[in-house]
Amino acid sequence: MFVLTNSSAANYLPGTAMDPLRIYVAELAGKGINITLNNQSVFCLDNEGFRYQCGMKNDKFKAEFKNFEENFKKSWTKSREVIFELFKAVTLVQGHTAAESTSISEARIIIQTLMGPLAKVCTIIEEEMSKSVKETQIQSLMENGNLIKKEIAIEKFEHPQCVCLSCAAKTKNNPKNAETQIEFTQICHKRCILPDTVPEKFPEPKLIDCAAFDGQGKCQKCGCHYLKHIRITQKTIQKILQKPKAPILSRKKAEEIYSKLLSTLQSEQTFVWETVIQLAKYLQTNAIVDFNPLFVDKLKIEIEKQHLSLGSSSDVVDKLQRRLQNFETQTKMVEAALENMQISEISEINIQTIFNKIISLKIHGSIVKQFL
Ligand SMILES: [Zn+2]
Ligand SMILES: [Zn+2]
Ligand SMILES: [Zn+2]
Repeated sequence: MFVLTNSSAANYLPGTAMDPLRIYVAELAGKGINITLNNQSVFCLDNEGFRYQCGMKNDKFKAEFKNFEENFKKSWTKSREVIFELFKAVTLVQGHTAAESTSISEARIIIQTLMGPLAKVCTIIEEEMSKSVKETQIQSLMENGNLIKKEIAIEKFEHPQCVCLSCAAKTKNNPKNAETQIEFTQICHKRCILPDTVPEKFPEPKLIDCAAFDGQGKCQKCGCHYLKHIRITQKTIQKILQKPKAPILSRKKAEEIYSKLLSTLQSEQTFVWETVIQLAKYLQTNAIVDFNPLFVDKLKIEIEKQHLSLGSSSDVVDKLQRRLQNFETQTKMVEAALENMQISEISEINIQTIFNKIISLKIHGSIVKQFL
């Protein structure tokens, strides 16, 4: 429905506003939204009615605008009628389930909040599927009958911190230690307030302005180059949940249990990646927002962290890089199709449903929720 104000001059009709309105409605029709322009969808009124109701009660105003009183009165009567017509039309409109039709702006907000956590979860799952973790899990089943379960907690900082990625790598995790700190330990600037910089962007050339670095871009705290640093606003803490001992298992039984876990991990990983690709395509076709800073950059940081802490021999880094390449190929195809005008309609996907599915994943749903 459209409400046009200031329409007394056009005798309470749309007047010149009708042309842009027709163009807009034609555009919507191209997207599958059909609106008929008539007196049930276009309502013309005038706020001169306000002058009749309020202005004419003021002696000074009344003296000045005496000659217009009849016009104001007509405006009030007409606008009042139109408002009642509008209310009547609203009550007759057929309702539809709001949950089933997330608007584009709602979709944008959901995608923006979802993509960063998905980049983290992709990495966590890939880590859990790695060869070294497989062996640790089988050993655990054989020693105390349990799979190792990790709990992930997020600690949000009061101010962004500038930390060193290279130095974080030097503090190796102790696999026997129940509390494993995987995040950055070298904090080079504690209250790193830099305007116009996006946290978690890597590399970030604007970090040259951070107080931690000297004129040559060398860190005065750790000695590394400024491009080896990153600004973060929170850190992830992984804790291993201690479980009571269960009957120990044979290697064969342990492998069986692990392979069940692995297939759940694989299906969750496939689902997460399919979702990421779907969301990226939605953003591309609707030209809403660039997904690179939302997802690609974040995943690159996760890969870099893995690379630094596990070394180049890690299968996690390889697999994540391959998945990222596949993602980039797919999004480039969409880009090319868009340029050649091969995609004409908006691909409608149900963001709310995707969101609900992601947060109810058996193992990682609760982790995604934590990051939101
Ligand atoms: Zn700083
Ligand atoms: Zn540093
Ligand atoms: Zn450093």
